[in-house]
Amino acid sequence: MPDNQTDNHFDLIIIGGGLAGASLACALKHASLKIAVVEAYPLNTDSQPSYDDRTVALSYGSRCIFDSMGLWPLLEPYAEAIETIHISDRGHFGVTRLTKQQEEVEALGYVLENRNIGQQLYADLETAEDISLFCPAVLSTLKQDAKRVSVEVSVGAQAQTLTASLLVAADGNNSKVMKLMAIGSSQKDYRQVALITNITPGKKHDNVAYERFTDTGPLAFLPMKENRCSVVWTLTAQQAEYLYALDETDFLQQLQQRFGYRLGQFKKVGVRQLYPLFLQSATQMVHGRVAILGNAAHSVHPVAGQGFNLALRDIALLSELIVDNSRAGKDIGAPSLLQNYASLREDDIKRVYRFTDALVTTFSNNIKAVAHLRSLSLLLVDVLPDLKHRLAIQSMGLNTGSGHYMTRLNRGMPL
Ligand SMILES: Cc1cc2nc3c(=O)[nH]c(=O)nc-3n(C[C@H](O)[C@H](O)[C@H](O)COP(=O)(O)OP(=O)(O)OC[C@H]3O[C@@H](n4cnc5c(N)ncnc54)[C@H](O)[C@@H]3O)c2cc1C
Repeated sequence: MPDNQTDNHFDLIIIGGGLAGASLACALKHASLKIAVVEAYPLNTDSQPSYDDRTVALSYGSRCIFDSMGLWPLLEPYAEAIETIHISDRGHFGVTRLTKQQEEVEALGYVLENRNIGQQLYADLETAEDISLFCPAVLSTLKQDAKRVSVEVSVGAQAQTLTASLLVAADGNNSKVMKLMAIGSSQKDYRQVALITNITPGKKHDNVAYERFTDTGPLAFLPMKENRCSVVWTLTAQQAEYLYALDETDFLQQLQQRFGYRLGQFKKVGVRQLYPLFLQSATQMVHGRVAILGNAAHSVHPVAGQGFNLALRDIALLSELIVDNSRAGKDIGAPSLLQNYASLREDDIKRVYRFTDALVTTFSNNIKAVAHLRSLSLLLVDVLPDLKHRLAIQSMGLNTGSGHYMTRLNRGMPL
């Protein structure tokens, strides 16, 4: 039997079944492609790094992508709408509000727990006959030639060889695929740590997301189901460790002092977790028959909740190119297809780098002149409707760049 027809030959191998890898597999569920998803950690366990206690603020554009994929009805019961975004600078006068009414949308975005997204993505994948899940399984070797990619994966104590026309690296910011192919990345260390937790406030959150810029860094409160708020508190490593070690009462007191009483007296706090923050960018998005997406390609500061939203736009484009080539009977791993993917994604990714990096660097210091300037810029944003609309468009994930190329999934159409 020729190699291409053995059980271990696939059209596509996805390394990493986290938020990005599993979403790509779901997008391609009806594409009549044989797909392997290789994921290192068992699902539904506390050790799974992609589906942990964090939340994701999904932009309105990402909701459109999930809707076009037919997944939104599964996710919606877990999604809390963001109807207003309130941006302020602690101790200064500038404040701006973005509202769903001004932008004439149902919501500016939605907050979901990573764990719930993971459960729903895998529930959807379970119904797909052409998708094989190798889990827990890790990638050990990778080779490619002009016709195919070949990988060895360890499934328990057993090694298996899988081959495919195309391999997608969705294995996060410590990507083994990139290491095996000697693809480098540039990194900017923000020397900041995100302390993540959930709290129950005394007052109703009324679907308002708060982004407060403080002298140590941004502090975000995102509305969640059951009137909880997801807190992303950016701090120096020393401050984060100190706050992490406090008991619940002392921690809530410190948080209250930092945020104020707009949401009433904080009552309860959930598990606290720390994440070091950096900007990481792969030096190339494709290599031969390999494409890179999600955190492996770009990790950004969570200040404006852009990371997974950016990954979903990678997925919307790559899945469209794959499906179009497959329907035309063409090679889905052709280097020309992948070059097209890399060049069409470039503008959007660079725009998000600039947007998040500017927010972090402008709003994370206490130099007086900078503080006045940012107060002024917040005021300007509030009074200039066009500027405000542009900020809202970026936050809603509708400014996708790509030479204004809007994918079908972005436009609400099926693949
Ligand atoms: C504090 C914080 C808050 C955030 N908030 C937001 C937000 O509000 N909105 C937003 O859009 N984004 C947000 N993000 C970003 C978001 O979490 C990431 O964009 C998202 O997790 C990227 O998913 P991924 O699948 O690319 O990578 P990961 O989540 O890192 O998943 C990689 C997967 O690959 C698997 N894997 C790794 N190596 C191997 C291997 N060798 N073999 C097999 N499998 C492997 C891992 O087990 C994992 O499941 C936030 C990030 C942080 C740190």
